[in-house]
Amino acid sequence: MKVTIGLLLLLYSCSPLFSKDVIGKEIGQENHLETIIFVQSYKSNVSVNIDSVENFSEIEKTIILSGEATDKLHVYQITDEKELTVLKNPSQDIRHDYPLLQTLATRMLATVQDPEHAGVGIAAPQVGINKSLIWVQRFDKVDAPFEFYINPRIVWRSKLSRKGTEGCLSIPDRKEDIERSYAIRLQYQSLDGSLKEENVEGFTAVIFQHEIDHLFGVLYPDRLEEQLQEERIPLNEKIQFSMERGDIVP
Ligand code: ZN
Repeated sequence: MKVTIGLLLLLYSCSPLFSKDVIGKEIGQENHLETIIFVQSYKSNVSVNIDSVENFSEIEKTIILSGEATDKLHVYQITDEKELTVLKNPSQDIRHDYPLLQTLATRMLATVQDPEHAGVGIAAPQVGINKSLIWVQRFDKVDAPFEFYINPRIVWRSKLSRKGTEGCLSIPDRKEDIERSYAIRLQYQSLDGSLKEENVEGFTAVIFQHEIDHLFGVLYPDRLEEQLQEERIPLNEKIQFSMERGDIVP
């Protein structure tokens, strides 16, 4: 048993499958060596249609222009009935070059980095704007920068999933274990309007899945409920690790 654990630890330290980005900040408690890995199937979201994008509504413009351009915004809470309606509404895609986009982006960043309620990601519906815009902290990049994404989509999700603890700025005093795909293929629009795609894995992929869910009016307790109904196959004992003969044996 000791040998097995030692082997797992060594493989963990050198294998990209167990990306180290899951360790850090609050995520440290989410020890993936104890994480149960499941297989599940997920429908992929549809791709961005850049011809059907919208501008901000008058109400949304009022929110963006309230206060200084660098002020944080009020974070909508599920405990408020009106705010819950906005959180449950699906968001629309937005024109990538809309003039108020930069102001909203700056204010959303100030909101997610508010030292009193800091988060690792935020979606526009959380500040009352039903448009497809998110900030995600990229724990998979050097210095874990926050990055802004316009009209993001998940166009592929791995069937391999992992369980980790999630909270939400819009859900007070609650944290739960949610299963998310281990890896995703992300699509989004860049500031020049072109479509970009990249693969993301580990904890950063969890943040993208959480934030992009917000754009469909899906909150993490909805995923929890859904997952309780699904049958899963734990894989812990079925993943077989091996290495070439001649290497240092742990
Ligand atoms: Zn959230």
